[in-house]
Amino acid sequence: MTQNLSADAGQSHVMPTYARLPVSFERGKGVWLYNAEGNPYLDALTGIAVCGLGHAHEGVRHAISQQADTLLHTSNLYEIDLQSRLADRLCEVSGMDNVFFCNSGAESNEAAIKIARMYGHCQDIDNPTILVMRGAFHGRTLATLTATANRKIQAGFEPLLSGFVRTEFGDMDAVRATAKNTKHIVAVLAEPIQGEAGINQPPKGYLQELRKHCDAEGWLLMLDEVQTGNGRTGKYFAFQHEDILPDVLTTAKGLGNGVPIGACLAAGKAAGVLGLGAHATTFGGNLLACAAAHAVLDTILDEGLAARASELGERIRDGVDQGLKGSNRIKEIRGLGLMIGIELADETKGVVQAAMEKGLLLNCIGDRVVRLLPALTMTDEEADELVQRLVATLESL
Ligand code: PLP
Repeated sequence: MTQNLSADAGQSHVMPTYARLPVSFERGKGVWLYNAEGNPYLDALTGIAVCGLGHAHEGVRHAISQQADTLLHTSNLYEIDLQSRLADRLCEVSGMDNVFFCNSGAESNEAAIKIARMYGHCQDIDNPTILVMRGAFHGRTLATLTATANRKIQAGFEPLLSGFVRTEFGDMDAVRATAKNTKHIVAVLAEPIQGEAGINQPPKGYLQELRKHCDAEGWLLMLDEVQTGNGRTGKYFAFQHEDILPDVLTTAKGLGNGVPIGACLAAGKAAGVLGLGAHATTFGGNLLACAAAHAVLDTILDEGLAARASELGERIRDGVDQGLKGSNRIKEIRGLGLMIGIELADETKGVVQAAMEKGLLLNCIGDRVVRLLPALTMTDEEADELVQRLVATLESL
């Protein structure tokens, strides 16, 4: 790989790692974002599944402004009551036993990977291996980009980490076959629904089968709910659709509604793996982030937003289906709750721009999938407006 390494004079001082769209937003309210000229955009992406309660949510706004008036940050060297109460609540809602707080999805998966490796070493396995999936996305740190199944994301960052083996997603026979050929597997890491790969849903019962297989082999079942968690798919966590409990569970994104926070939860034998000094973070679980996450939990639970995500998701999927009936533009509409993928018959080129011109924000993954991750707090009318703008966009292409 040869590359001109000097930055262009006169260019932005932000590293050019993003191809940014030529729009910037100055304020938001609920499902709406407003640009500098005050033009409204219906936000069907919510910062990629982050602002699940919508923008400028009153409960979150109140919690973080009150916290800012009181105390933002102390240190994990001291007791943080707000953090331990948040851990209690996350464990109650998930059935897990304990939590390590961090600041992002990738960091929550780093913690999971460390748990798996330490779990192996506790059994005198010197080179513990984690089974990961084709199509997976787990983040951009070195360990998580190794676990991610995308060569574009990995290229140029070799040497990648050892200790990962990959198998087909949603296919138990593939899991068994890979296991047969691989020594020292200690854990499986998987998303309940693959987000970045195009809203890929495994067959019903897959997580239950994985759970059984992990139990039989003594592996940890580690689920990445960074995107699927916090009510988005119609349950607080997506694994709850299958009535199982993972050993390790990671989440971030929607947990803080825009305030960075991540969490790695563990249960049973996994909960005792990281002991004193085994992992640490300066910012993770600080007062501000925990105040935001408490407000998010209050709202999702008190307002039944997970169930509402199911209703809204059905409404949007049906609406798009009806709106484009008879047209051959759509191959498949998939997803659960408000995690929706619309696979087009043609390439998605131009869709994001055309939607923006109609005041709709969404994104596309791969060559063919339009992704919708709107707020769980939207009204029926706003959901219908989203459908109308999306159908008009797809018809215009
Ligand atoms: N895991 C999943 C399933 C994700 O969708 C993402 C981000 O899109 C991540 C991990 C990484 O999260 P972050 O960007 O907060 O590090």
